[in-house]
Amino acid sequence: MAKFEEAQARLYKDVMICKKCKTKAKASMQKVLRGKLLCKNCGKKQFRPKRKAK
Ligand SMILES: [Zn+2]
Repeated sequence: MAKFEEAQARLYKDVMICKKCKTKAKASMQKVLRGKLLCKNCGKKQFRPKRKAK
């Protein structure tokens, strides 16, 4: 199952979700922390990483 986990990690790595409108954005956490990432939908800088394991 290692392959599957790797694929999951790749899929969810660097995918951020806007906390306001839940728009997905591809960017690293570093970029978010530096305030370089703006939501293209609502313009907010509040993101959370998409790392929800079901
Ligand atoms: Zn947004």
